Amino acid sequence: MNIEKNISLKHLNTFGIDVSAKYFSSFRTADDLAALLDSHTHNTLILGGGSNILFTKNIDGLVLKNEIEGIDKIGEDEDHVYIKAGAGENWHQFVLYCLDNDYAGIENLALIPGSVGASPMQNIGAYGVEIKDRFHSLDAFHIEDKKAVSFNKNECAFGYRESVFKNKFKNQFVITSVTYKLNKRPVYNVSYGAIQQELDAMKIKDYSIKAIAQAVINIRSSKLPDPKQIGNAGSFFKNPETDAALFEVLHEKFPAIVGYKLDNGKVKLAAGWLIEQCGWKGYRKGDAGCHVKQALVLVNYGNAKGQEIYDLSSEILQSVYDKFGVMLEREVNII
Ligand SMILES: Cc1cc2nc3c(=O)[nH]c(=O)nc-3n(C[C@H](O)[C@H](O)[C@H](O)COP(=O)(O)OP(=O)(O)OC[C@H]3O[C@@H](n4cnc5c(N)ncnc54)[C@H](O)[C@@H]3O)c2cc1C
Repeated sequence: MNIEKNISLKHLNTFGIDVSAKYFSSFRTADDLAALLDSHTHNTLILGGGSNILFTKNIDGLVLKNEIEGIDKIGEDEDHVYIKAGAGENWHQFVLYCLDNDYAGIENLALIPGSVGASPMQNIGAYGVEIKDRFHSLDAFHIEDKKAVSFNKNECAFGYRESVFKNKFKNQFVITSVTYKLNKRPVYNVSYGAIQQELDAMKIKDYSIKAIAQAVINIRSSKLPDPKQIGNAGSFFKNPETDAALFEVLHEKFPAIVGYKLDNGKVKLAAGWLIEQCGWKGYRKGDAGCHVKQALVLVNYGNAKGQEIYDLSSEILQSVYDKFGVMLEREVNII
């Protein structure tokens, strides 16, 4: 375990922000991680695929890239298989592995960038499925106590793009593996977004998890900017929730407003629509911008500084608040 000095992180974050880490290393086992943490007293930042991070400054500490590999079936019952994956496994490759082995339940989450270990961090979700729906448990390492700990689903306190690791226990644990509870018999979820439409276009009549994953891949590829072409971290903001009364007022004023009624009585608004109405879609200042097709996605056209993208996000927050009285929240982790 070699600790390198002054390493550029430009190619280790999907925004492509050029900051450096004072110290940098990677680990392939929990033991390596423990040794690295033992040998170093600096602040530590755990990095997966860097697809949900905006770096606004150089890191004056130790950046540790999680490269723990391995996928194992560790149990099964009549209806489920329990699949444990190393936190450093690539998420989409893990989805493909599950498709090949007929493990159902995460096909709607195909093509989300990043690592297995980050999947519980913000309870990744897309096309009507969240990871909490397929989560069984995870193993983590407490950075300060230097102890291995397991978390079950309740202990993770999953919410919409939230978990205990993103707030209460922020920066306290390194997730080393995640165990998912997947279905032996698929329960297809095609009601969300344009999945059914895409399956029709693909002329698929008999559903399969592979066909659904392919439909999701096709839709995502046509809608979302590929970080290899243009730096971004997917949705920059969360979709905000408002109470029903405010939604009624907004609906009267802005009849085209997009809102989904939730079970808790609140209404979830489409942040992208709100941002678009404020005129930001396609906006560019220097190399920082708001994507031409997806107002929810902020982009780096090449050499933007993280601070410039952050400042743009603040301007967007303010203008949405001024127009609609709704305060957006950033989904991306600002470092
Ligand atoms: C084009 C694009 C589309 C996207 N679409 C979606 C989507 O549909 N749904 C969705 O939910 N997200 C989406 N995202 C966001 C992102 O892919 C996910 O949040 C993903 O889970 C981040 O994984 P990562 O390994 O890249 O995490 P990183 O960006 O490396 O890290 C994110 C945060 O988690 C911490 N962290 C990472 N790994 C660990 C670990 N093992 N232990 C402890 N802390 C850790 C980091 O310190 C950081 O705070 C998208 C991103 C892009 C670029």
